[in-house]
Amino acid sequence: MRLDVVTIFPEYLAPLNVSLVGKAAARGQLDVRIHDLRGWTHDKHNTVDDTPYGGGPGMVMKPDPWGEALDEITGSDPDAEPVIVVPTPSGRPFTQELAVELSAKPWLVFTPARYEGIDRRVIDEYASRYDVREVSIGDYVLAGGEAPVLVMVEAIARLLPGVLGNAASHQDDSFAPGPMANLLEGPVYTKPPEWRGRGIPEVLLSGHHGKIARWRRDEAFRRTTANRPDLIETADPAAYDKKDREILSILGWAPGPDGRFGRSPEVVEE
Ligand code: SAM
Repeated sequence: MRLDVVTIFPEYLAPLNVSLVGKAAARGQLDVRIHDLRGWTHDKHNTVDDTPYGGGPGMVMKPDPWGEALDEITGSDPDAEPVIVVPTPSGRPFTQELAVELSAKPWLVFTPARYEGIDRRVIDEYASRYDVREVSIGDYVLAGGEAPVLVMVEAIARLLPGVLGNAASHQDDSFAPGPMANLLEGPVYTKPPEWRGRGIPEVLLSGHHGKIARWRRDEAFRRTTANRPDLIETADPAAYDKKDREILSILGWAPGPDGRFGRSPEVVEE
């Protein structure tokens, strides 16, 4: 997979050389290219921003350097079409599902902005030619899009074949499509078997794979109902087996008229 990042802070992307993403790049699974947007400016101050039309606080990133940068980068491989990922708090949420979708693309171009963002015409221009995704990593506002790029690249890169040591490990993750969709992963334990007087759940020592899988799934329901009840409320209950329904009932959840689960009224009243 090829990854281009255009930024005014190339040094901010240094962590892409480290750990899982860095190793994937060193092995040739990722071709990471970081570009300094100021390289496409032509004035002596390398200006990338200007005052907003209509007034208001802050500055807006000028269209010219972005246009020149994106023309050059997207035109560098006539045989391939990039997906352009624009980090912005006003974009669609970045989810595991989107990470999976983007991990199947051969080429991603990220455009992390600063100030109040990029002149809108740049997004409209490239959306008329390419698949452009405006993506938010959460309901908060950061000073720039570089940290969101680090977040997204790490989430995407660990899904690429051969990047994680054990390919199965991301299939059990919270949010992973399949049996874990709409569920958070439960707690995990390692040696020693006792630490500061605290043991580990007996079932994990039983060697009984079926019971361990069931325990893990029950714990996933416990954690999800506690921390992210919205995930259960919106989940398709067709994915739930008899045991899932039992644990949900124990936790005080019941199916509503549309079959979707919600907290039982008696529990809500308590
Ligand atoms: N005025 C903008 C707004 O309210 O939408 C905020 C601009 S923010 C200060 C500057 C840049 O940081 C954004 O253009 C984007 O690249 C990045 N950014 C900030 N928060 C983000 C988030 N939650 N998700 C993705 N990118 C974000």
